Amino acid sequence: KQITAENIRNSVRENNIRFLRLAFTDINGTMKNVEVPTSQLEKVLTNEIRFDGSSIDGFVRIEESDMVLYPDLSTWIVMPWQDGASGKIGRLTCSVHNVDGTPFAGDPRNNLQRVLAEMREFGYSDFDIGFEAEFHLFKLNENGNWTTEACDHASYFDMTDSDEGAKCRREIVETLEDMDFEVEAAHHEVGNGQQEIDFKFDDALTTADRVQLFKLVVRTVAKKHGLCATFMAKPLQGEAGNGMHTNMSLFQGGKNVFYDAAAENGLSDTALYFLNGILTHARAITAVGNPTVNSYKRLIPGFEAPVYISWSLKNRSPLVRIPSAGELTTRLELRSADPTANPYLLLAATLKAGLDGIKQAKMPMPPISGNVFEMTETERLAAGIQPLPSTLHNAIKAFKEDKLIQEALGEHLTRRFIESKELEWAKYTQSVSRWELEHYIDY
Ligand code: GLN
Ligand code: MG
Ligand code: MG
Ligand code: MG
Repeated sequence: KQITAENIRNSVRENNIRFLRLAFTDINGTMKNVEVPTSQLEKVLTNEIRFDGSSIDGFVRIEESDMVLYPDLSTWIVMPWQDGASGKIGRLTCSVHNVDGTPFAGDPRNNLQRVLAEMREFGYSDFDIGFEAEFHLFKLNENGNWTTEACDHASYFDMTDSDEGAKCRREIVETLEDMDFEVEAAHHEVGNGQQEIDFKFDDALTTADRVQLFKLVVRTVAKKHGLCATFMAKPLQGEAGNGMHTNMSLFQGGKNVFYDAAAENGLSDTALYFLNGILTHARAITAVGNPTVNSYKRLIPGFEAPVYISWSLKNRSPLVRIPSAGELTTRLELRSADPTANPYLLLAATLKAGLDGIKQAKMPMPPISGNVFEMTETERLAAGIQPLPSTLHNAIKAFKEDKLIQEALGEHLTRRFIESKELEWAKYTQSVSRWELEHYIDY
């Protein structure tokens, strides 16, 4: 969608906009923003809004902390709530630049654009992405703080029309539609209070920008309903976790290069090479797609989440599934990532791995037709099926051994990512949990 500076000036006037929110994403995938009153609009439009990046995770050291925001005008949106302001709030997604105007290497959004440019140089025009981000709705307590009490006791695709969760989900969908999202599906997921809302696929950058806004909308509307929305991977032990299935296709002009009418299952050689790239680098990609300690509590058998590196055409237990689809919608569904992933980093990593797969032009292992969980260890090994990393620690180790995935993040983000995740792991291993007390107090 083409939006000009003049369109934004008009929109600001027509909507009585009083504040402009300039959003960007840090290395952990957390959305940050600088808010300025509308009097600063011209400065916003000419990339003159500066901020101090020193306290943003994964950004820069104190002595080089000045950063500049370059808004992407195509992301202009009038927010549906005012947050107590006397007028409306406008929002722009920005890229972070250095004061000399060059793109800042520590900005995950710039980094995704860098890998997308490599893709275009390689001859492809678009990397299209559809996310399926799942989340839980929990009740807030009387103090307005989160609990782990689900908002309902419904299950997969249940018709729960009357409860607060269903009302909340509907309002989320309406709000998203008001913000120009094309919502394709919204349904209750397997777990109590667990929901999924899917919006239409689009190019990687647009979808990454949108999923960030999506999370903000979900959290904000949930709060209005006295609920807390969480995207953490495994909020409740023994219940379904939250995945963010990542549906990927690659285009050359208007043509989906993953599709080949003449091939078996409509799947082109290019798709299979791309798939092989993903499988080859799956362990390091997991660090990026499953970046929290808690992420690995989801990647266990029994909850439709993957544990092993394999792929299939129908079965839902492997890492990658190829849903049956037509010419434009033939795609690979990566099932490991969860919604705590930084979408910009995740897409940079998967695209880099897939493009390298195309360069190597090697066929992946054969698809599995049965359930990987029902195979014995020996059968899995014989079939060449490796496990995904079992902890954040193991995933970071795999990441540190994978040059290609490090290149996908670039030198700056790689260094910061490893630092940040090793610290997170160290803090976690030093914490003493309820489980440990229960098991060891009487030793
Ligand atoms: N919640 C499951 C997961 O953790 C996915 C369920 C589904 O959409 N089939 O990935
Ligand atoms: Mg789904
Ligand atoms: Mg789902
Ligand atoms: Mg899915």
